[in-house]
Amino acid sequence: MNDPKIRFYAGCPLRSLEGHKLGTLCIYDTQPRRFEQKDAEILRDLALMVERELAAVRLATVDELTHIPNRRGFRMLAEQALRLCARQNMPASLVFMDLDKFKSINDTYGHAEGDRALRTFAAQMIATYRESDLFARLGGDEFVALLTDTTQALAEALIERLRQSLEQAAEEAGEGYHVAFSHGVVEYDPAQHRTIDALLSEGDKLMYTVKKAKR
Ligand code: GH3
Ligand code: MG
Repeated sequence: MNDPKIRFYAGCPLRSLEGHKLGTLCIYDTQPRRFEQKDAEILRDLALMVERELAAVRLATVDELTHIPNRRGFRMLAEQALRLCARQNMPASLVFMDLDKFKSINDTYGHAEGDRALRTFAAQMIATYRESDLFARLGGDEFVALLTDTTQALAEALIERLRQSLEQAAEEAGEGYHVAFSHGVVEYDPAQHRTIDALLSEGDKLMYTVKKAKR
């Protein structure tokens, strides 16, 4: 009954900018069809259009330096995640982070080393948080994480783990510095945080209060 009765199929693989396989653009029919050279060329052209469209979305939503989402990518993904949490009555916490005295790393060790430190920070976030969590580089030395199914208390514990792995990574690399950061944690309240921007701005304010207290 559910047999799709496919009598014709033609497919063209889709690849990312880096050459990773993403899937296949395919056409099929319940009738047998002829498929000639010019049809193959048209299918290939359509696949190229899809690849270009996917590449454009990627370029607009991923940070070039660290290869984690940028602010735009984060906002897109976070809106969906928050809707899901609200619907399922699941807690979520946003962690807003800004590196401490990052300019002095650039000034002392050079801009290229500063770039490397930003990439290390992103890699440590990936290693610390879970696959279901979202994180992004908002710009400059500002990063954010949205931890789903996570209360504020659990978020604080995860941040402590991130801090420890940064210290350990710096020790192992034998650098003369280690990257420290100030953070603010906001537990998501659907009644209060209507948008992701509301959460971000509250996290930013909390982070700034912590940073000021350190000076
Ligand atoms: P604070 O403790 O107050 O946060 O001081 P800070 O030195 O970290 O300064 P702030 O957060 O205000 O500015 C971030 C600095 O990060 C400014 C700029 O020199 C540096 N920066 C921003 N983007 C990049 C980047 O892509 N690569 C490098 N190497 N440095 C960057
Ligand atoms: Mg900073």
